[in-house]
Amino acid sequence: MIGGGINGTGAARDLALRGVSCVLVEKKDLGSGTTWSSSGMIHGGLRYLQKDPEVTYHSCVDSGAIQRIAPHLVFRIPFLMPVFPEDPIGPEIVEIGLEMYDRFVPLKNGRPHTRLTKAQALQLEPALSPRLDCAFTLDEWGIDAARLCVANALAAAERGAQIFTHSEAVELLRDGAGRVSGARVRDRVRGDETIVEAQLVLNAGGPWGPEVAELAREKFKLRPGKGVHLVFERRVSNLAIYARGVDGRDMFTFPHEQNSMAGTTDDDYYGDLDKIGTEEDEVAYVLEAMERSIPRIREHRVAHAIQGVRPTLYGFGAYEDELSRDYRVIDHGKEGAAPGLWTITGGKLAAYRLMAEDVANRLCAELGVTTPCSTATTPLPGGEAPLDHAALARRFGVGIPAALRLGFRHGVRAEHVLEGGAEKRTVCACEPVLEAELRHAAKHEGLRKLADCPLRVRLGNGACQGASCAGFAAQVLADELGWDGARAVREVAELAAARWHDVAPVLSGQQVAQMEVHRAVFFGMIGALEVLP
Ligand SMILES: Cc1cc2nc3c(=O)[nH]c(=O)nc-3n(C[C@H](O)[C@H](O)[C@H](O)COP(=O)(O)OP(=O)(O)OC[C@H]3O[C@@H](n4cnc5c(N)ncnc54)[C@H](O)[C@@H]3O)c2cc1C
Repeated sequence: MIGGGINGTGAARDLALRGVSCVLVEKKDLGSGTTWSSSGMIHGGLRYLQKDPEVTYHSCVDSGAIQRIAPHLVFRIPFLMPVFPEDPIGPEIVEIGLEMYDRFVPLKNGRPHTRLTKAQALQLEPALSPRLDCAFTLDEWGIDAARLCVANALAAAERGAQIFTHSEAVELLRDGAGRVSGARVRDRVRGDETIVEAQLVLNAGGPWGPEVAELAREKFKLRPGKGVHLVFERRVSNLAIYARGVDGRDMFTFPHEQNSMAGTTDDDYYGDLDKIGTEEDEVAYVLEAMERSIPRIREHRVAHAIQGVRPTLYGFGAYEDELSRDYRVIDHGKEGAAPGLWTITGGKLAAYRLMAEDVANRLCAELGVTTPCSTATTPLPGGEAPLDHAALARRFGVGIPAALRLGFRHGVRAEHVLEGGAEKRTVCACEPVLEAELRHAAKHEGLRKLADCPLRVRLGNGACQGASCAGFAAQVLADELGWDGARAVREVAELAAARWHDVAPVLSGQQVAQMEVHRAVFFGMIGALEVLP
């Protein structure tokens, strides 16, 4: 398996549950590619209803399944859709669309839409523009997408799969008959290489998929689409709010974990996939769209941007938004000249489990494995039983906010994180991340780099962007992973560089000087700025 995004980890879990022995290699950290940059919604996708109803249907069905197997990881996101006098589609037509969507909504345990008067909408969400005519509610679900990848990888590992992060497939190998028979894999932390032999290789490289296929001299085309979100320092509204871009595109701002996110853009992208950044005009485009629905949006501080590239299936002549969100499984033995190599590409986070089931069915058929898929009914790690957060807090002497955050990421297994006299000190104050969780991630979940902490435990995602907690966190990881002082400082520098990459594009005016000083004080104090990569 090449790629530890949601499609790679989902397929690894499916295959491992059927008893297939697998090795997954991920060149960075689990979920760090497109999956991390997604809106994290396991929704049906109202906007696909017209052109791609199958995508909406499958996403709703799978959202229902994901909620069953990982109830701790999902959260409800009620949406408000304001209708303005100048909107090209009036309330009656909007409501017809929502009535259609209501038919799919029970599949994902959602509530049907409601039509609200202007007064009702403003009472619910005072931040809304008073220019609205009326508004509609609709019900969606969110998830911590990176944690979902970790949960899938843990489940796969518990069934014998081997998971290697920061391990890049640099060559695909062939046997004497020309069949793809494994990969040469480089450990990007240690710098050494190993050969992984396999009967079948699955390319789950997301937008990097064509590059991975190229390692076997195979070609397939995607229509990669860059998407940018702005992440506000805190929540700017209680509900998610629809907005319309200047070009008429649907966008929204939505509460996500302790922040609000706003986005997203969707633009053809032909640049280097490993050097994606957010541009000034993208920030302006998102803010302008949001301002129409939430006039005072610019008064809220944007903490950073997140950017990623959708592995959208290739299509010619359509605007980015109109492209299908369907997925494809490619057997490069039949469709190309690389038997033994398969690719899964495209699709949605919301339908990842179904996609994994589909590709695993086909791989199992080739391997002669007849065990059926059980991923829709087997809980993901932590989803086995409900957690009593208050009892957890009492038993281990931690605050309720910390217990809630632990329970969100680890479900009923939060107890394992705190067992054995684990350290209850708070490492990150923006979110109550406990030292115990950081140690657990390094000891039991394969965390290898400080710069991966924002994905793994959300440390470094808050207002200080890691400046206040990086030093302490590096000490904890140094203790767990045996780093010397120089390595720990390098790790802090890498985290500082990664956070700055996401922060710099959203700064303007005096914020630039303020953040430069802030960063110099905190990271400079431990000598991390001198060794910035
Ligand atoms: C802005 C945006 C918003 C989105 N919002 C939603 C949403 O709300 N809901 C939804 O359902 N979907 C959403 N999507 C789509 C969804 O995020 C993607 O469909 C999904 O995450 C793709 O997962 P993946 O595993 O295929 O790719 P990735 O997550 O990119 O995983 C591929 C992995 O392969 C690794 N890799 C690449 N080359 C190699 C190599 N040579 N060796 C080892 N590893 C390698 C990469 O490091 C990467 O981690 C959104 C996408 C974007 C961009």
